[in-house]
Amino acid sequence: MKALKERILQDGKCFEGGILKVDNFINHQMDPILMKSMAVEFVRRFASTDINKVMTIEASGIAPAIMVGYLLELPVVFAKKKKPSTMENMLVTSVYSFTKDRSYEVCVSSDYLCKGDKVLFIDDFLANGNAAKGVIDLVKQAGAELVGMGFLIEKAFQHGGDYLREQGIHVESLAIIESLDNCEIKMKE
Ligand code: 5GP
Repeated sequence: MKALKERILQDGKCFEGGILKVDNFINHQMDPILMKSMAVEFVRRFASTDINKVMTIEASGIAPAIMVGYLLELPVVFAKKKKPSTMENMLVTSVYSFTKDRSYEVCVSSDYLCKGDKVLFIDDFLANGNAAKGVIDLVKQAGAELVGMGFLIEKAFQHGGDYLREQGIHVESLAIIESLDNCEIKMKE
């Protein structure tokens, strides 16, 4: 998606270890106009997919996910990183975060991620695919069906996308980063 690629090149910052900081428009300050355009693009790319629920993981996935849910007029459920004592019918999985170098648990209630749901997962980044694997596990535990995964930014050099596509999952990424070597952003055309 041209507008996102241009914005990454304009405002994205590279950090050691293959990390791209997009705090100017996604992860801290948010650009709702761009966020809406990205959601429109997801709706276009998943137009032929039968979806009844949008899912994400807190916190950075919530903004793009709710934009998609708004356009599709569908509910949006987000997996939580802290287990609320009041959550009923909790499904739990473990996710390894390479940006934080530790594993954490995420949970969701099967009251909202339900058996038979056709789930479109939306998130900000796809790197090694660990968060995505956690979501696949939660969807499986719920007896729901994962019908697609949409990411704002995929870092192809970390190969999470290869794994998901090999599983036969319909993956759409709006900008694909080939490399961040020498802190230079190389984008896939
Ligand atoms: P994965 O589980 O695919 O390895 O990583 C996905 C998660 O890690 C994303 O939800 C995002 O929060 C975080 N993440 C991975 N790579 C980056 C990055 O380069 N920049 C930022 N800001 N977050 C990242």
